[in-house]
Amino acid sequence: HACQDDRLLQTTCPYCGVGCGVDVIQRGGMQGQLSQLTGSPEHPANYGRLCIKGTHLLETLDKHKRLTQPLVFGQVATWDTATKEIAGRLTQIIEQHGPDAIGLYGSGQLLTEDYYVANKLMKGFIGTANIDTNSRLCMSSAVVAYKRAFGEDIVPCNYDDLEHTDLLILIGSNAAWTHPVLYQRIERAKLRNPAMKVVIIDPRRTDSNTLADLHIALRPGSDSALFCGLLNFLADNNALDNPFIEASTNGFDDALKAASSWSLEAVSEACDVPQDYLNTLYNWFVELPRVISFFSMGINQSTTGVDKGNAIINCHLASGKIGREGCGPFSITGQPNAMGGREVGGLSTMLAAHMDIEDPEHHQTVSTFWQAPNLITKPGLKAVDMFQAAADGKLKCLWIMATNPVASMPNRALVEKALTHCELVIVSETAAKNDTLRFADIVLPATGWSEKNGTVTNSERRISRQRGLLAPIGEAKHDWQIISMVARAMGFEDAFNYHHPQQIFNEHCALTSANNNGARALDLGPLATLTIAEYDALRPQQWPLESAHRIGRERLFANGEYYTKDGKARFIAITPQKPEQKTCTQYPYILNTGRVRDQWHTMTRTGNASRLLKHIDRPWLSIHPDDAKRKGISDGSLVALHAACSGDIKVILPAKLDDRQRKGELFAPFHWSATWGSHCKVGALLNGANDALSGQPELKHGAVSATPF
Ligand code: SF4
Repeated sequence: HACQDDRLLQTTCPYCGVGCGVDVIQRGGMQGQLSQLTGSPEHPANYGRLCIKGTHLLETLDKHKRLTQPLVFGQVATWDTATKEIAGRLTQIIEQHGPDAIGLYGSGQLLTEDYYVANKLMKGFIGTANIDTNSRLCMSSAVVAYKRAFGEDIVPCNYDDLEHTDLLILIGSNAAWTHPVLYQRIERAKLRNPAMKVVIIDPRRTDSNTLADLHIALRPGSDSALFCGLLNFLADNNALDNPFIEASTNGFDDALKAASSWSLEAVSEACDVPQDYLNTLYNWFVELPRVISFFSMGINQSTTGVDKGNAIINCHLASGKIGREGCGPFSITGQPNAMGGREVGGLSTMLAAHMDIEDPEHHQTVSTFWQAPNLITKPGLKAVDMFQAAADGKLKCLWIMATNPVASMPNRALVEKALTHCELVIVSETAAKNDTLRFADIVLPATGWSEKNGTVTNSERRISRQRGLLAPIGEAKHDWQIISMVARAMGFEDAFNYHHPQQIFNEHCALTSANNNGARALDLGPLATLTIAEYDALRPQQWPLESAHRIGRERLFANGEYYTKDGKARFIAITPQKPEQKTCTQYPYILNTGRVRDQWHTMTRTGNASRLLKHIDRPWLSIHPDDAKRKGISDGSLVALHAACSGDIKVILPAKLDDRQRKGELFAPFHWSATWGSHCKVGALLNGANDALSGQPELKHGAVSATPF
C-alpha cells in the first residue's frame, strides 16, 4: 500500500552495457525499504523494459554476504589504519622499485567518478600508467578498431537505429541472453516490419536464432575472411559508394587490394560456410538500404579482434552505410560502464578525456589541469601483461577493485601465481566471499549497487545517473572515497579533496573541454558547472553534446566528417589470421566460453537470487552428439577438460549433448568459479593469448582435450 512518505527513486541497472533505467519505490521515506523495482518508462535505453537480471536486482542485496569492515593482514582494522598502511606501503614500493612496480586492476562496474579518481592518482600523482580494467576483456578491440577508422573511440549508432534498419547482422553475439532488452527491441522492430532481415553470424545456434532469417555458422575465428569477402563482393557488384569513398575516406585501394583474393569460393572454404549462404548475406547487404552490424564478444575476445572490427567497419564505409538512420557498425559492450571508464582514461593505453599519452599537447593539457607532479609519458601494462609482470616479480603491488580476476581472467594458474608473488595485494570489494579475496593482504569494503552514487555511460554513449538509494552497509565506502583517502595519506591532499561525486563529475567534464576546440567528440564542457541538485537530477544524456543547451547527438558522421587529423575515415587493409590457440592431436577440441541468460560474471551478486538459478542452476559443457558418441560421453555424464596451459587443473563438467554446436567444438559458461564448485575453473583452460593491438584476450577459441571422467 502506498503511503505519503513513499518516494520514487530512479537509477540504472548495474549489469550489462545496455544501461537500462530502473525505477524503485522507497517505502516510508529516506532510508526506507526498497520495493517495486521496474524499468523506467522514459529511459531511452529501455523505455520501461528490464530483463530478468534487472528485474531481480533487489533480491541480490543480501547484507549478510557483504564485506563490512577493512581487514589488514587478516585483522579487522579502522579505515585510518588501513589507509595509512596502504599509503606507507605504496610509498615504500615506489622508493624501492619505482612507480611502475604498482598496478591497479579495476572494473567496468566502477562508476565514472571512481574511475576518474583512480586514473588521476595512478597516472598523474603516483606516476604509472599501470591501471587497467576488466573492460580490457570486454571491448578494447572495438575501441582500437574505432580509433583506427574514425580517429576516436566512438560508437556511431544509437539503440533507435536497431528499430529502424532493414538488415540487422548480429556477429558474435547471443543478444537474447547477453543484452536481452536490446534483443526485445529488435524482436519488436521485426514484428512491426516483417520485411526486416536478421542474420546471425555465430558458430553456435543460440536462443538469438529465434529471429534469424539466416544463420551463418562459420568456423570460429574466421570472421575477418567473411567481411573481406563482403568488401570484395561490394566492389565486384557495383555496390560501392564512390562519391562517399572519394570525399570522406582514405585507404580504400589498399583495403580492397588486401581483400581481393577473398572470392566466394575462398570465403566458403575459410569459413566452412556454403556459398549460397554467403551469397544471400552479401546480396542483402547490397540491396537493403539500411544495415546495422551489431557485434560483441565473439568479435572482440579474439587474438585478431581489432582486425575483425575493422573488416566490418570497412564494409560500412565502402557502401556508405554509416552516418544514417539504421546504418553503421555497432559494438555493444558487456560491462555497464566500460565506456564511462574510457571517457576518463581508465585503460593503461589512454590518458584522460580521450586524450593520447604520446601527444605532447594532450600531455601538457592534462598535466596543467591536474597540476600533476608525475604525469605519465608512456603507456602502462594491459590486463594480461599486468598479471604476467606480477608473476615475474616485476610488479610488487596489485590493487584490485570491483572485480574477481582469479575467476574471470584467462590462465588462472598465472593469475594465482601473480597474486602469490606480489608483496602487497589490496582488494576493494563488496562481496565477503570470492576467489580473489584469499590472496588479499588488505581488504577494503566497498559500496555496491543501491549505495553507489555517480554516473555510467552505456553502449550508445548515453550518460545516466546511477543513484545512491541506501546508506552504505557497515563501514563500506565508495571507491572514489577510498582512493581519495589513500591519495591524501600519500601527501596529495589538495588534488583529492573530494566530498561529493558531483565535484568529480564536474572536474571530469571540465577536463574534456580543456583545449578541445571540437577536435574530439567527447566534450562535456556544458555539464562542468552542475550544482549538486542539477547533478542529482541529471537526465540520461548522450554525447557529443551539440551545444551549450546540453542536447546530445544521437548519431555520428552524418556530415561525412571524422575525428582523424584530415577529417576522413580510414579503411584498414586486413589480412585474416587464424586464432592463436590452435587445436592439435593432444588438444583436439575448440573451446568457446560465454554467458548464460540469468547470471552476471562470477555470480557474486546474481548468485544471491534463487530465482535467477531457476533458468540454469549449474555449469555444463555443450558437445555435439557425434563427438560425444565417439568419446563414450552420454548426456549428463562428467567430462574432464584439460589444456596445455592448465597444468594440474582439470575442469570437470556435466555434458549436455547439443547439435547446435558444430562438431569438434565445445561451449562452457564461465560464471561458475571455484567458489561454486571446485572443478569449474573454465578460465584456466585459456592461455591468455591476446590481440597485439588491443591486448584483449582470446576467450572464444581455446584448445582442449575432453575425456569421460
Ligand atoms: Fe538492461 Fe542489461 Fe540490466 Fe538486463 S542486465 S536490465 S538488459 S542493463
